[in-house]
Amino acid sequence: MSFLKELQRRRTFGIISHPDAGKTTLTEKLLLFGGAIQEAGAVKNNKIKKGATSDFMEIERQRGISVATSVLAFIYKDKKINILDTPGHKDFAEDTFRTLTAVDSVIVVIDVAKGVEEQTEKLVQVCRMRKIPIIVFINKLDREGKDAFDLLDEVEQKLGLRVTPLSFPIGMGYDFKGIYNIWEKKLNIFSADKKQTVSKGIEFSDLEDPELDKVIGEKSANTLREELELIYEVYPSFDKSEYLKGDLQPVFFGSALNNFGVKELLDCFTEIAPTPQPKKAEERLVDSKENKLTGFVFKIHANMDPKHRDRLAFVKIVSGTFKRNAPYLHVRNNKKLKFSSPNAFFAEKKEIVEESFPGDIVGLHDTGNFKIGDTLTEGEILNFKGIPSFSPEHFRYVNNADPMKSKQLQKGLEQLMDEGVAQLFTLELNGRKIIGTVGALQYEVIQYRLEHEYGAKCSYENLPMHKVCWVQPENSKNEEFKEFKRVKQRYLAKDKQGQLVFLADSAFTIQMTQSKYPSVKLHFTSEFE
Ligand code: GDP
Repeated sequence: MSFLKELQRRRTFGIISHPDAGKTTLTEKLLLFGGAIQEAGAVKNNKIKKGATSDFMEIERQRGISVATSVLAFIYKDKKINILDTPGHKDFAEDTFRTLTAVDSVIVVIDVAKGVEEQTEKLVQVCRMRKIPIIVFINKLDREGKDAFDLLDEVEQKLGLRVTPLSFPIGMGYDFKGIYNIWEKKLNIFSADKKQTVSKGIEFSDLEDPELDKVIGEKSANTLREELELIYEVYPSFDKSEYLKGDLQPVFFGSALNNFGVKELLDCFTEIAPTPQPKKAEERLVDSKENKLTGFVFKIHANMDPKHRDRLAFVKIVSGTFKRNAPYLHVRNNKKLKFSSPNAFFAEKKEIVEESFPGDIVGLHDTGNFKIGDTLTEGEILNFKGIPSFSPEHFRYVNNADPMKSKQLQKGLEQLMDEGVAQLFTLELNGRKIIGTVGALQYEVIQYRLEHEYGAKCSYENLPMHKVCWVQPENSKNEEFKEFKRVKQRYLAKDKQGQLVFLADSAFTIQMTQSKYPSVKLHFTSEFE
């Protein structure tokens, strides 16, 4: 198959949701359609199996949280679908934000009873900022939930989306009869006992067809007719280019657990979802159709096997063909590297591949060369943008608890930070090290991993800070900046890249500081124009 054909058949996306909305279940059902797995439960089982072989996963298992972002791929209707799974737990939000830099579109899963939840709001906000095309899947229709129209309103208001329903439920919970597929003008009848089989769907291009009354009853049929009329009146009709621009979001209803409404979602997705998109580098815009390889690391997964302390760097291919054993430039280190066993991901397995294409994710075995955000090319100096660090929300001093192991501690901390587990800041005044995280859970993960993987021990000391701000002086030589540095000396630190940050104890402090030193810009993310 030609390079262009390979590119055009790829769809790389992420599923995002608040925990428990049904992301894992939906992922699994999608894989079933792709024939990538044979039975329900395989995705979850796999999670647990990995847990048994990896110390790190033990933490995940104990807490029942999906820490790792995994890649699952399958073929459906000749399309190569890559799903980048994202942890829903808020303590791992940064991991999810980074994964969103590697997707070309997303599916947002919402629980019909709970509606739009906190984590969904945050993640969708990031997608909207980046104009990522979004499809919404409202899940668990087999349960009592909110009224479908109310939910659509909620999605519009809380998520700031402009929705267009492409399917619509007939009843809900106990009364759930099925789903009318607006996209294909088909009716699917729900039957709770046929969980894994997919009903064919009855075609009703004309809703006035009296056959409809026979199939779902006169009352339901009339309600459906009225509701659809309302939908056609109130909501904008679907327009692919608006969807692709991130200006219009199709909505589907269903029940992932019962495999209902999932095929409709997948069929529409494969037709409308974007092919691998161009990506901005600091130097220029890179088009996915360019034939020279470019790609970037968005995730580093540590210790698949704790005995070998090896890491797997996940690289999203932006352009060109990634070839096994070809020399690629690691731009930050200015070093040529060859990879003899790049992994591709299929369903829940990974295997060595000869070639990968834009949209694909390759897993590269790494002994410490890679950091999140690193770029690979065929020689061009390129640095992909858009993998910023976000301000952490928890801060603690980290102390060495075993003086004999200070080297190990330093190495462990450095590698864990490269993986993006947390952020390390070094105080300008005295060189003390501070770990910043999004959630308190990471401190335990770090302590555990330092001990089990690096043989080092650390202790923490609480540091009641609100946020860090990345500092951008308009002019690093002016008096105002000098005064800022003198007055705020005790609160200044460097991040791991050597960028200056200001530790603020409250939102008020940030406000005051900003108004006192207007030429010194304070940012909540490490990347700014
Ligand atoms: P995640 O945390 O978003 O990955 O959610 P899971 O896929 O693990 O689902 C959370 C719970 O909701 C599990 O107990 C699922 O069995 C259940 N669930 C998922 N989809 C449905 C559905 O369509 N209907 C019902 N009733 N339960 C569901």
